[in-house]
Amino acid sequence: MLRVAVVGSGPSGVYTAQALVTQDRVPDVRVHVLDRLPCPYGLVRYGVAPDHEKIKSLQNSLRTVLEHERITFLGNVEVGGGGIPPERLGELYDAVVYCVGAATDRALAVPGEDLPGSCSATEFVSWYSAHPDAAADGFALRARSVVVIGVGNVAVDVARILARSAQELRPTDVPHGALGALAGSSVHEIHMAGRRGPSQARFTTKELRELSGLPQARVVVDEAELARDPAYADPSARVPAPSSPPNAPPPTAAARRNVEVLRGWAAAGDAGAGTGGHPVRTIHLRFFLRPVELLERHGRVAGVRFARTVPDGSGGVRDAGTYEDIPAQLVLRAIGYRGIPLPGLPFDPVRGTVPHLAGGVLRDGVPSPGEYVAGWIKRGPTGVIGSNRSCAKETVASLLDDAPLLAGRASAPDPVAALRAWGLRPVEWDGWLSIERAETALGRSLGRERVKIPDWAGLLSAARSGGRGGG
Ligand code: NAP
Repeated sequence: MLRVAVVGSGPSGVYTAQALVTQDRVPDVRVHVLDRLPCPYGLVRYGVAPDHEKIKSLQNSLRTVLEHERITFLGNVEVGGGGIPPERLGELYDAVVYCVGAATDRALAVPGEDLPGSCSATEFVSWYSAHPDAAADGFALRARSVVVIGVGNVAVDVARILARSAQELRPTDVPHGALGALAGSSVHEIHMAGRRGPSQARFTTKELRELSGLPQARVVVDEAELARDPAYADPSARVPAPSSPPNAPPPTAAARRNVEVLRGWAAAGDAGAGTGGHPVRTIHLRFFLRPVELLERHGRVAGVRFARTVPDGSGGVRDAGTYEDIPAQLVLRAIGYRGIPLPGLPFDPVRGTVPHLAGGVLRDGVPSPGEYVAGWIKRGPTGVIGSNRSCAKETVASLLDDAPLLAGRASAPDPVAALRAWGLRPVEWDGWLSIERAETALGRSLGRERVKIPDWAGLLSAARSGGRGGG
């Protein structure tokens, strides 16, 4: 028998567990999937926007995996930090696969970044996703104008949620406090700005197109600004590969499709406000603007100063020597995620990932059997949810290659008892099912469908109310 701990229950962790129990090279593999939170599914629960119900429904297939007879979910188990150290965890299992994602935001590193009113998009996403670590006071949304920095899918998500009405979001599982704030939102103008051109934007076409279908918003683009991009002016032109490591360049075909959508919007004058008649909000999609400073007034953010950029001919940009200020009372920085080091594990500070060979952790360049990585902590914060399947399979193949070295390494006959002895109070599957029931009951009491519980105390008390397995 091989006992494996998978740290993280997001898609990469669940696909890793699935790959471990569905292979036939080592027949009896038992997997414990640990998560710091009492709830499973990682970014599918706490990152996918509430109005993306189809992607959210992926939880159903992740649930089927976690209910497999040889897989055990253990929530409320922190590895590192105040929880169990990785080296101790390594003694409890034959192998550990870290699927801990990219847990922090990239820094913009410009003056004013830390002003009140300047937040990472992750903070905003965590708030409307009911993440229990999100600030309790949340976002009042008294801003009239918001600047979203970055043109990736997270930027599109936050712009879209800001542009939606509370009525549109009411049927989703958005927490009740956030729904109330969105109902009272003063936001009228949403400016989303990329430092390079439209053919280097990182959003996917489906997500981009969705912006023009919002009932109460319109999208405005500036044809002259778009046309600074040679690939916009000439659709047959080769799209230069983006040059900013460590991000992978988007496929050329995807960039062309994005440009096609933007060209259509430019031709139409503006896009959207589909069915709702008079648009309440305007999304300004801007390019070739590099943020250089967040402006301040009365101790709060008052806008963003951008340097105008021009293409450098190889996918990058250079400053044109002019500036543009966009007033804003809220600035959301959506410039990507970054992995953070886990104490006791090697870390590449440049890439923000754990050094590995096909998923096997490398210590000083040498493979360390028993330690593996999958997902964003392995390959960086890129790709769609499905990218985690092949990533997990590669890691599991490496683990199985090492299996003869690993079997019997685990010292504890019962790792769950050992975790409890360490002072942890795992939330088992029954506890999670109790949380689900409590969220359905909360929704019913509010006249809504299921509504997420947004705080640690509420989640843990719901987990424990179900009796067995509640930590
Ligand atoms: P991302 O795709 O890497 O986009 C980051 C954006 O920030 C890029 O436009 C980037 O521009 C810009 N940026 C980076 N550093 C900057 C700086 N210093 N100043 C100004 N702009 C800067 O990251 P993301 O949007 O956080 O998404 C992360 C991953 O999650 C992606 O794989 C994404 O597809 C995925 N995701 C998917 C969905 C979905 O499918 N619906 C939703 C959310 C997230 P440069 O290109 O110039 O660096």
